[in-house]
Amino acid sequence: MIKKVAVIKGDGIGPEIVTEAMKVLDKVAEKFGHRFDYTQLLMGGASIDANGVPLTEETIEACKASDAVLMGSIGGDTNTSPWYKLPADKRPEAGLLGIRKALGLFANLRPCLLYPQLSGACPLKEEIAAKGFDMLIMRELTGGLYFGARKTEEVDGVTTATDTLVYSEKEIRRIAVKAFEVAMKRRKKVTSVDKANVLDSSRLWRKVVNEVAKDYPEVTLEHMLVDNSAMQLVKDPAQFDVMVTENMFGDILSDEASMITGSIGMLPSASMNETKFGLYEPSGGSAPDIAGQDKANPIATILSAAMMLRYSFDLTDEADAVEAAVVKVLDQGYRTGDIMSEGCTKVGCAEMGSLIAANI
Ligand code: NAD
Repeated sequence: MIKKVAVIKGDGIGPEIVTEAMKVLDKVAEKFGHRFDYTQLLMGGASIDANGVPLTEETIEACKASDAVLMGSIGGDTNTSPWYKLPADKRPEAGLLGIRKALGLFANLRPCLLYPQLSGACPLKEEIAAKGFDMLIMRELTGGLYFGARKTEEVDGVTTATDTLVYSEKEIRRIAVKAFEVAMKRRKKVTSVDKANVLDSSRLWRKVVNEVAKDYPEVTLEHMLVDNSAMQLVKDPAQFDVMVTENMFGDILSDEASMITGSIGMLPSASMNETKFGLYEPSGGSAPDIAGQDKANPIATILSAAMMLRYSFDLTDEADAVEAAVVKVLDQGYRTGDIMSEGCTKVGCAEMGSLIAANI
């Protein structure tokens, strides 16, 4: 199989961690007889330096002409970098919002997996951490409370602010379909999170999700209220497989879920549109404090590349091989600084990438 991959290395640790993910992809290509053709593109701070803007039409068009986008992270030190003296719409993060919009990426996928080898970093009670968990939060990214009309006005002499939470049937249906499709590639369970006891938008959400579920008889569907979901995440995270939810609920729950794994350097993510196209990137930022020092953990980016193989290219065995290689390297006791513990062997970013590639 030949696939075109747009590569945005980005800023800070971005170039280091993406280089390691490409090392692993190249090993997958060699081992399984594929070819990945990379197009390197600029975005964020690197694009500001080269082009004066965080995102160019050229980058957007090249991404659209590719089968998927692999990205590091963008941005610099917000206190010291000159990029943050620019107006908000010219800063590195504006590129991120711009590219999501230009590519129609409405579904954000964040797997949260607690590796038994790293359970010491999990802030949950030992008996809960010991059970482990492996879930994926799918957050709607382009609608809901963050995109509805808002205003602040004087009402009877009192300053009053209003935000609106709007969802159309079409927007709910497309994210629900995505959630069931992803569940079919996992343990075939969907938990749809809403606040249907209060909100009309949630009642529509629940109705549409129930309709979509009829096309996926193999998938078990449950509905859960958002307040209960927040509690269940810390009480019994092992019960979840795919959790699908509205933009703001997903924003909050995905941060809660990532915290209980205890390690930002291990968490991949993807943003997808209605087709198999997606943008794959680590959940963390550009970590300017450790950039250029070979200290970054490349695993989140390597696991993001595995998601690309699974969800954009339907290369299940290859994705399994990358994830298994990560587990093997952890089992062998190798750790980057952020996940280091007593008795393990500390390695840098490049060595971690090489070890994972060698285990494929
Ligand atoms: P950050 O995630 O970059 O760093 C937070 C802490 O986590 C730091 O101590 C950092 O060293 C550590 N860390 C993060 N990733 C790591 C990795 N792979 N290996 C080891 N340690 C890691 O968050 P921040 O400091 O708030 O933000 C720094 C910059 O990143 C800002 O400019 C911010 O806007 C940007 N950012 C970008 C994205 C993105 O590209 N999607 C996301 C979040 C933040």
